[in-house]
Amino acid sequence: MTETPGQSTRAIHGTTLKDAHGAPHLPIYNTTTFAFKNTAALLDVVDGRKPGALYTRYGLNPTTFALEETMASIEGAEAALAFCSGMAAEMALFAQYGRDGVVCLGDAYGGTLELLADQLPLLGIDTTFLLGSELEQLDAVLAAGARLVFFETPTNPALEIFDVAAISAIAHRHGALVAIDNTFASPVNQRPLELGADFTVYSATKYLGGHSDVTAGFLLGNAELVTPVWGWRKNLGTTIAPEPAALLARSLRTLTIRVNAQNAAAQAIAEAMEADPRVKRVLYPGLASFPGHKLAAAQMHGFGGILTIDVDADSEATSRVADRLSLFSLAPSLGGAESLATQPVTTTHHGLSPAERERRGITDSMIRLSVGLEDTADLIADLTQALDEVTR
Ligand SMILES: *Cc1c(COP(=O)(O)O)cnc(C)c1O
Repeated sequence: MTETPGQSTRAIHGTTLKDAHGAPHLPIYNTTTFAFKNTAALLDVVDGRKPGALYTRYGLNPTTFALEETMASIEGAEAALAFCSGMAAEMALFAQYGRDGVVCLGDAYGGTLELLADQLPLLGIDTTFLLGSELEQLDAVLAAGARLVFFETPTNPALEIFDVAAISAIAHRHGALVAIDNTFASPVNQRPLELGADFTVYSATKYLGGHSDVTAGFLLGNAELVTPVWGWRKNLGTTIAPEPAALLARSLRTLTIRVNAQNAAAQAIAEAMEADPRVKRVLYPGLASFPGHKLAAAQMHGFGGILTIDVDADSEATSRVADRLSLFSLAPSLGGAESLATQPVTTTHHGLSPAERERRGITDSMIRLSVGLEDTADLIADLTQALDEVTR
């Protein structure tokens, strides 16, 4: 084949590893160690002269190889490391590249904020936090020495869009690296490496797993930059285990079809909510009314399966709307086949003071929706009946 196959083809045929018995998928090598014919063969793998299976915690397990090769192919990345969680991938990245200082832009996942603000300073890794409205300070923070810029786009729960190419250009001028937590978009909707970023990080627990049944993470980028992180994963012991690796490889085969269906459903729901008088505001990158729409249209291939509605009600009535939903379950995760709803003030942003929430543009009347794979008409009907609580 001369032309690069499309992303769906790569999601299904992305690994060159083949099972000796003709099984269409690599089986689960549920084994901790691998035996060698002789010492010379063992040393070839130990010293890195030849690729091969050796020890599962090192990631040197055929199930892990197949998963990483497939994910790298989907992303268009040279190298991929699979972790036991998204947080584990972030930790290994910060350990290797955060030591001269991290800049975290915009809203980030709660666990990321806690790690950067509370735990990593104990190890001498310090972070400067800049909101989207403070981006003009990025140059100065980088001039002062920070060497890693980390952010999500779209962000949670306001779906703020950051310009990956422009921010990467600023960072690179200062010799800093750029890592994007691409969990919300998935590689179907956004490929930050093509836009100039150095790393993508994923909580594979979300869209990549897609069924709310596997906890995992990835770090992707050029081999030269990813390879040093391998040692952290090995000795922090945060490598993915063979069983979740096989489950995740199964999920990746349907990634593009799932995400494309979720994009279309989220767009239809966003439009229906925008037309509903009981909703003040709909935050969704696919709406022309959304402030980040133009930038999202330029740097994304799809607008994603997450939207946030701002209900025309107080905090309590908003909770009643959330409670009255029947197809949307009240849960703080995202990216699965089942639709989920969460009121950020009660979950993801519960720990922030009211003043800090206001600074970040997070209101008590927001409900974040993760659109699943149910019939779109049923999801709209569920939201419409729940909104009756607003006028009760
Ligand atoms: C869930 C999530 C994480 C953390 O991932 P885990 O797999 O739960 O460790 C990181 N970033 C984002 C954007 C997430 O949604």
